[in-house]
Amino acid sequence: MMPWDAPAPEKAGRPSAFGLLPEDLKALGCPNDPAHLFSLLQRPWTWAEGAPKLGKENRAFLESVADLSLPGIEESSESSDGARKLALKLSDGRRIETVHMPRAVKNARVTMCISSQVGCAMGCTFCATGAMGIQRNLSAGEIVGQVLSVMSSLGPGTSSRLTLVFMGMGEPLHNLDHVHRAIRVLTNASGLCIPARRITVSTAGLVSGIEKLARLKPRPLLALSLNASNDADRSRTMPLNRFWNLEKLRAALDTWHLRSNEKFTFEYVLLAGENDTDEDADRLVAWLGTLHRGHNLNLIPMNEHAASEFRQPVEARIQAFSDRLKSYGCFVTVRRSRGRDVNAACGQLVK
Ligand code: SF4
Repeated sequence: MMPWDAPAPEKAGRPSAFGLLPEDLKALGCPNDPAHLFSLLQRPWTWAEGAPKLGKENRAFLESVADLSLPGIEESSESSDGARKLALKLSDGRRIETVHMPRAVKNARVTMCISSQVGCAMGCTFCATGAMGIQRNLSAGEIVGQVLSVMSSLGPGTSSRLTLVFMGMGEPLHNLDHVHRAIRVLTNASGLCIPARRITVSTAGLVSGIEKLARLKPRPLLALSLNASNDADRSRTMPLNRFWNLEKLRAALDTWHLRSNEKFTFEYVLLAGENDTDEDADRLVAWLGTLHRGHNLNLIPMNEHAASEFRQPVEARIQAFSDRLKSYGCFVTVRRSRGRDVNAACGQLVK
């Protein structure tokens, strides 16, 4: 077992209460209706003072079998665009980052960008989290706990307005068991009941994880962080590509049987002089093959930071790259990352 595979330290061997499903509570001897107790834990808009109201008997039971501590918000920085980068402290003192992004309209929907690991082992050279290395996996309870903790202090006041993206710190498919358990908790009808189609798991291309997740239920949406159009370039910026190259990655996508209206999202961080030529766009379309139409292609101009030498292409090059892809019929969005002025944007999360 590698060090980061070790489960999160749990108080006196007790699991986090926030990663337990109703059937787990029942198996642990819950004295009342397990689905009701689960709903008390999982609905932060019913909490008082940032903690679930449980009643004496439920609290005594939970304290005897589980850990009731939540990741606490330690720091909060608000960007001029309304996004907030939050630093959350875990029970062992380590910190993760979560980004809260409300849309600027009344009753705004909120997208929350959540972390799955402390640091990341993938070492992508354009990414500040990658420069940290991996410290450990988050447990399912810590993943769910960050969502509940942030919702209880910043909203939204109902999960029907919440969208989750696993695009924070870590490679979620490198921690798939805990990530998938968290998804089972988050989608459970007695809790937040977030539809799986409003949860996106973004991967750097961990082929074994894609193949495994393709068979799991509930199955979230998949986003793939591509970032290069040939193996030589991709292996240089994303070392994972040396094990799972573009050919293997493309084959893995064919094992994912898309539901009706389900789309992949392909993310492509544009790096000046590295992956932003017209030839790169042509190769990208060739690699996508039948997937080049009808799916989402997000171009993300590099968010510059001190841990990487890469720079953002000039605006005219970004536009030319986008136009080239559109000329093939691709659906292209240029994503202006939110939270850029507080280092909360893609590839900038680091603690
Ligand atoms: S881009 Fe994603 S997978 Fe790559 S190092 Fe950063 S967090 Fe890890």
